[in-house]
Amino acid sequence: MSRVKLLDREFELSIPEEKLLKAVDQVAEKMNKELEGKNPLMVCVLNGSFMFASDLMKRLTIPCEISFVKLSSYSGTGSTGQVKELIGLNEDISGRTIVLLEDIVDTGLTIINTVEQVKQMGPADVKVATMLFKPDACKRDVKLDYVGMDIPNDFIVGYGLDYDGYGRNLKDIYTVVE
Ligand code: 5GP
Repeated sequence: MSRVKLLDREFELSIPEEKLLKAVDQVAEKMNKELEGKNPLMVCVLNGSFMFASDLMKRLTIPCEISFVKLSSYSGTGSTGQVKELIGLNEDISGRTIVLLEDIVDTGLTIINTVEQVKQMGPADVKVATMLFKPDACKRDVKLDYVGMDIPNDFIVGYGLDYDGYGRNLKDIYTVVE
């Protein structure tokens, strides 16, 4: 499928599954080396990162756990602008190595706020893994420990990412046709 239509928009194939999975292989390899002996708690930030989290977990060979969180639709104003409250991280994470699993870092606002909230829960360390990163959109100073791949500043769907709820099931990534 080189093109798909979702609701009112057309999207064209931009990153095939094989390329995505190679990127996940590399992230997993790095984590297997760097997080050995740290018993990390992987924290999958729903909804978009479910496919990345699934493919990544299958490739991790170190002892680790996974938990799933959401960002509420509630938004207030914090130091970095709009904040969404992190919900679902109910376990005691004090002293743990946390690895946040994100689908995409665009402006960086979401991940900065999420890291801030997790840090307040007293972990030993908070690392960030994102499947995709848009360097041209991200003007903030964000520390990304693991990046699957850099992509251009275009709107994409597939591999967990949606357009108004649709397209999350696509195994490849598609870019909007303007
Ligand atoms: P940020 O706060 O870094 O600007 O945005 C992060 C969130 O925006 C992601 O978790 C994702 O939900 C959404 N997002 C950013 N870029 C895209 C994109 O190209 N496609 C889709 N479907 N969502 C995106």
